[in-house]
Amino acid sequence: MLRKKGKQWYGDDLADLRQEMLRYSAKSYRIGCDYAPVCACGGHNFFLGADDEEDGAALACTRCGQRGFVADSERFVKDEILDDEELCECLCGQRAFEVIVAAALYADTTDVRWWYVGCRCVQCGLVGVYADWKDDGGPFEERLRPPEAPSG
Ligand SMILES: [Zn+2]
Ligand SMILES: [Zn+2]
Repeated sequence: MLRKKGKQWYGDDLADLRQEMLRYSAKSYRIGCDYAPVCACGGHNFFLGADDEEDGAALACTRCGQRGFVADSERFVKDEILDDEELCECLCGQRAFEVIVAAALYADTTDVRWWYVGCRCVQCGLVGVYADWKDDGGPFEERLRPPEAPSG
């Protein structure tokens, strides 16, 4: 169940996180679909690379370190954003999150208007939207994109 402490919301699970994200998105573009990323190794806790000034977000599995971009984020952020000092941190100081990636769609399509990345701290349960940005209208995809292998 979601509960408020001070200005922050805390939740027990992904359902609570989803509820908080819906509340957040109701102010702008309402979320139409979402998924909870799971790594190929089965891990479902992630470090988050995101930046207040940039669009996009990248995730790294806390279990095996595999990195992935949310949708078209590679256009905006480099995977160096997942290097240690750049990682997003919860108010409690902890950096592993359960994650939901959600999208607002254009009417009657599966084309994405806006992406949202929401996180739930695995330690204190704080839930919130950590990143959101406008898509050019690419189709919704329920996976992270692996970083391109360096060319040349
Ligand atoms: Zn993994
Ligand atoms: Zn926390």
